[in-house]
Amino acid sequence: MERQYDVVIIGGGVTGTALLYMLSAFTDLKRIALVEKYPTIAAVNSKATNNSQTIHCGDIETNYSLEKALKVRRPAQMLVHYAEQLPPAVRDQVIYRYPKMVLGIGQAECDFLRQRYETFSPHFTGMRLLEKAQIAEVEPNVVQLNGQLRPEAAVAISILNEYTAINYGALAQSFVDQAQAIADSASGKTIDLRLAQQVQRVEPAGSSYRVITPDDSLIARFVVVSAGGHSLLFAHRMGIGLEYSCLPVAGNFYFTPELLNGKVYTVQNDKLPFAAIHGDPDVTTPGKTRFGPTALPLPLLERYSPKTLIDYLEVLKFDQTVAAVLWDLFKVRDIRNYIFKNMAFEMPLLNRRLFLKDARKIVPSLQLKDLEFAAGFGGIRPQLIDRNQRQLILGQAEIDPGNGLRFNITPSPGATTCLGNAEQDVLRIQQHLGCEFEQSGFEPALMPRN
Ligand SMILES: Cc1cc2nc3c(=O)[nH]c(=O)nc-3n(C[C@H](O)[C@H](O)[C@H](O)COP(=O)(O)OP(=O)(O)OC[C@H]3O[C@@H](n4cnc5c(N)ncnc54)[C@H](O)[C@@H]3O)c2cc1C
Repeated sequence: MERQYDVVIIGGGVTGTALLYMLSAFTDLKRIALVEKYPTIAAVNSKATNNSQTIHCGDIETNYSLEKALKVRRPAQMLVHYAEQLPPAVRDQVIYRYPKMVLGIGQAECDFLRQRYETFSPHFTGMRLLEKAQIAEVEPNVVQLNGQLRPEAAVAISILNEYTAINYGALAQSFVDQAQAIADSASGKTIDLRLAQQVQRVEPAGSSYRVITPDDSLIARFVVVSAGGHSLLFAHRMGIGLEYSCLPVAGNFYFTPELLNGKVYTVQNDKLPFAAIHGDPDVTTPGKTRFGPTALPLPLLERYSPKTLIDYLEVLKFDQTVAAVLWDLFKVRDIRNYIFKNMAFEMPLLNRRLFLKDARKIVPSLQLKDLEFAAGFGGIRPQLIDRNQRQLILGQAEIDPGNGLRFNITPSPGATTCLGNAEQDVLRIQQHLGCEFEQSGFEPALMPRN
């Protein structure tokens, strides 16, 4: 007999598990399943080693406008507020307090950061503007060169005492643990965690949906697909979201010995659609500093899974419009050079030398011998191409046909916004199923305190 569920979530990354937690904790839905193809939670982009471990709240991301920064700040605060309430031993495996800064080098970047500080600091009260000598107090290696202060003009916008780093894998596990604890507490809820079960397809079954795995099929009144780039594949196979194609952009990292005390971001080139590299401590690898991520278009939906090339070719749906969008990108000199540079970052012998040049903007005394490619680290950002708008979408996107299906596609900062996205998913589920969404529990547990 097919088992019946109110909601089935496909994908056990931070997006799917945040929704599992939110449905268990704050709705009256009784039967929820999460199906994940790998034997562990958070095995792909949400794995701690595969992303930049940053809580993006808009203050040091110079590619965010004030409007975007204020938008992303709320879900970032929800995340921190949630994690702060975990038992201390769990909390300390999830969130980390490091200083963070965005560094301006040269007069133009310094002027830009001073101006940005004026605009942003009334909204982000923890911000401090650091002059070169003050940067040295927080991050000596950023400004020291041959025993002296580096010669170029340097200024930084910093936040010195907030939670800034996060292990998204541990966060996802905490969401699952919380959901299961609620189910075990005689709440009458069933949380069915189905690991190592790859969903093959979703098909309509009356007013519900059938979610089919090799060994089983589940009936769901609502299906949320939070399967990274594969969400688009599921949508396309159901004839939905065909206006979207995908440009997967891989991000790799390099390790050095410990050089930084916290996160040091650099000013974004506003012609480039991808964030500039940064350096920071790796929460999973004590004693090392990690630099990256690079940004290399790669025809895969999962970084270390060559067989996802076939899936990628299916979601690409290459046509004249996709070609035109890619050509428009390639025509911009800065983007073209950046793509070539990132290709060269992959070439043995050349890669470390080229990357060293970029990383020296952050640590000018960095030596080639100290750089080591972080093999096995990094992931893929599934950036969508909107055929109707003829443009690359830089943030996350959801496809919601309004009929009991929802598809989340979540490049950066999709991990930071996981609870915000889950909230949106729950509101749509509430609309469709008419369930309760308990604000009285939700607000104290998740709403940011001001
Ligand atoms: C290099 C890099 C750096 C990043 N840095 C940051 C950062 O610092 N801060 C930030 O907020 N974001 C960052 N991001 C983005 C962030 O990693 C993602 O937004 C986030 O992890 C997405 O989570 P997710 O659960 O949607 O997807 P994923 O973590 O990819 O999870 C999707 C899950 O779906 C499962 N799945 C797929 N197909 C099926 C199927 N057929 N059946 C069952 N399960 C399936 C997969 O196995 C996987 O577990 C970064 C991304 C990259 C690549």
